[in-house]
Amino acid sequence: MSEEFILNEPSLENYWRGIILFGRNVASYKFALAKSLIELQPQSGQLLKLSDLAPSFANQIAEHLRHSPKQITSPSSKFLDAVKTHAIVTPNQNRLIEETVKLGFNNVIDAFHIVGNGEIPKRFYIDEIKRNNGIRITDEFSALVERFQYINLSKEVESRWNLVETAWELGVSSNLLEVQYDNKDEVLFAFNKENRRKEVTSSRGALNGYQKGKCFYCFKQININNGRETEVDHFFPYTLEKDKSFRNINGVWNLVLACETCNAGEGGKHTNIPTLKLLSRLSKRNNYLISSHHPLRETILRQTGQSESERRAFLQDFYNRAKNTLFHTWEPKFQDGEIF
Ligand SMILES: [Zn+2]
Repeated sequence: MSEEFILNEPSLENYWRGIILFGRNVASYKFALAKSLIELQPQSGQLLKLSDLAPSFANQIAEHLRHSPKQITSPSSKFLDAVKTHAIVTPNQNRLIEETVKLGFNNVIDAFHIVGNGEIPKRFYIDEIKRNNGIRITDEFSALVERFQYINLSKEVESRWNLVETAWELGVSSNLLEVQYDNKDEVLFAFNKENRRKEVTSSRGALNGYQKGKCFYCFKQININNGRETEVDHFFPYTLEKDKSFRNINGVWNLVLACETCNAGEGGKHTNIPTLKLLSRLSKRNNYLISSHHPLRETILRQTGQSESERRAFLQDFYNRAKNTLFHTWEPKFQDGEIF
């Protein structure tokens, strides 16, 4: 699935998203490295020493440790203990950097570009740890910075990180693992082990990558930093919620990001039902979310069906009943070629 995701539109940002959204994770270090690269924005050809990377990298981890103590799937980690001690308990910046250089980059620098069974064909840096104790930034990374979608990537990494650590905290196979959507605050949340509501992440950051930073309907580029330009849209209109037979209308499976025009502009979707062509796009988008591992995977499987055929039947049944209630179908007048 991740290959299909990238090859439909093999742009640099989608290779990057392949790494962030589809890689398997046993620790959150990949997210910390991604956020550090975005924050430091090094130039093409630049040698970034581990000691240059360490302050940003360690601070990203410390920030997450403060609200989510579980940052790794194994029971303990020397590095995480060091960050806790030198960043949180008795802050000492020099010791923090020293320990991070020593322990923090094992298994992350060389694994960053691996998605599925192999490395992606684009490299955002070259591993020069053995020779120069750092990484060499490539032209690809500089070109990525120039892309329109670059403005969205930091939020996307943050959201993916928040979701993954939530899954670790709750236990992947736990019954608690259902991510829900708050329609008013537009955030995703879950209930923690004490049965208290825990805000997980912004819905825009969580959804944007899987639709490649484009409006779900017309493929116009969207900027998730500007809330008014990008709407969180219910594919099957929220108005159906009044009829309780339309279950989980607020589920992630039914949420997409749309530009203002498609959502509520002149000739926009409003309370119409998207056409069957768009329904099959939704099915594909949901499969991307499912192949991106926990926790949205479990949530969508539970709400729409365990197998591909069950999920198709679920969507088709929803569509038929929605059409009997709201009658009118809609699709945007102009849209570029299919990209997801
Ligand atoms: Zn649109």
